[in-house]
This record gives sequence, C-alpha cells and structure tokens, in this order.
Amino acid sequence: MRFLIVSDIHGNIDALEAVLHHVRRKRWDRVLFLGDAVGYGGGPNQVVEWLRSLGSALVAVRGNHDRVCTGLDEATYFNRYARQAAEWTLQNLGRKNLEWLRALPKGPLAAGDGLAICHGSPVDEDAYIFSGYDAAQGFRAVPHRVVFFGHTHVPSAFVLRSTNGKALIQVRLLSGKRLVLDLEPECRYLINPGSVGQPRDRDPRAAYAIYDDRVSRLYLYRVPYRVQTARRRIVQAGLPPVLADRLAFGA
Ligand code: ZN
Repeated sequence: MRFLIVSDIHGNIDALEAVLHHVRRKRWDRVLFLGDAVGYGGGPNQVVEWLRSLGSALVAVRGNHDRVCTGLDEATYFNRYARQAAEWTLQNLGRKNLEWLRALPKGPLAAGDGLAICHGSPVDEDAYIFSGYDAAQGFRAVPHRVVFFGHTHVPSAFVLRSTNGKALIQVRLLSGKRLVLDLEPECRYLINPGSVGQPRDRDPRAAYAIYDDRVSRLYLYRVPYRVQTARRRIVQAGLPPVLADRLAFGA
C-alpha cells in the first residue's frame, strides 16, 4: 500500500493545491492526515472539503487547532494571533465542514500493519516531539513499528535502534527538495513529514510524504507554492498580518 501523508494544512488551500498538483502523477492508495486541517489560513472550507471528498481513502486524526477552531475546546494555550484565527475559523466554517471536523478521532490511530498516526505524540495529542526524550515516551506508548506524527511543523525522523540490548534513539532533521528514506526492519520510527500549510523549519515550501509499506520506503518532498496568494487571502480575511508574514519565512 502506498500512503500519501499530509499534516498541518492549517487552512492554506494554496499550499494544498500545489501539493496535489505535485502528486498528481504519483500513485497512492490512501491518505493519512495527521491533524490541523484549519487554523491560521484563509481557506479552511476548501481544505476540509478536499479531505471530505476522499471518503474511505482517508485515515485521519484531529489536531489541537481542529478542536479549538470548532469550539470543542478553549483557546487557553493559544497566543492571541492563534486565538483570533480560531475565532474567525469558527465563524467562517460551513456547517457540514464544522460537523465533519468535530467528528475527527483522537490519535493514536492504527493505519495499517504496524503503522499508526497521531497529531502530537502517541502519549498525548497535544504533546510535541522535538527531542529524543520526547520520542522515547512516544515509542513506549504504542507497539507500532512506524508512527507518523505532526504538530511541530518540522520534518524529522526519530529512529529507535536496539543493539546488544541497549536502545538508542537517533534524531534526524529532514530537509531538502526530495529525500528518500529506507526504513530498516529492525528499527522503529517516529516520523514527521512536515507541514503542508505552515512550515516552521525556515523553508517556506509545502512539505508532504509518500510511504510505501511494502518496501518500507519513505519519500519526502518540498513543493513551492504561491505564498503571496496565501498571504493575501489571510490579510483580506481580516486575519492578523503576522500569520501572513510568517509563511514567507517558513517560520
Ligand atoms: Zn499545527
């Protein structure tokens, strides 16, 4: 099975369209969505409509913004820009899209043989995996060999390798236009494909991945898109301009 993996789209329809254009001649059987369809960006309805159109080809978990932007949760931990964006999103989401988002399951969720997805960490959907320590807790929480996660918006891989009874976690940041990662059968992995709609690794290009579980091979891509159009959409919606500006820097 080949999985198209997308995460943290954040209402950025311009970035999502560029990804869909880039992937149009590649084969995939199923989409794994790791949460945060909305929040920050000016095209939340279009993003949710694409996800909904996938029907049974979609395996998805909710993100923290999907909760807050649909009124399922308070914006307690959000800064004022994120809170403003959440209020705007709640007011502007169509009823069907809102209901669909509210019904998204909480991760971790099994997505295939030895494969799972979550938003933040398998431990807690709101936890961030930045360090080897964070990853160790994540590995302990689930039995799956490969877990895809989002939330940090930083493409990265945490590899758990056991040698002579000792477990070692390697951290790898995944940068570049195209990267191929062959997963070793004796290792376990926590992998973040990066963010489609709001990258935060100083590379403004949209990030996504394809995983072929038959050969345990992961392809990571970065796709340029019309950042100016996405920025204009944010400003014209009356959202905080800082949310538009950060897209230009990938921060
Ligand atoms: Zn996010």
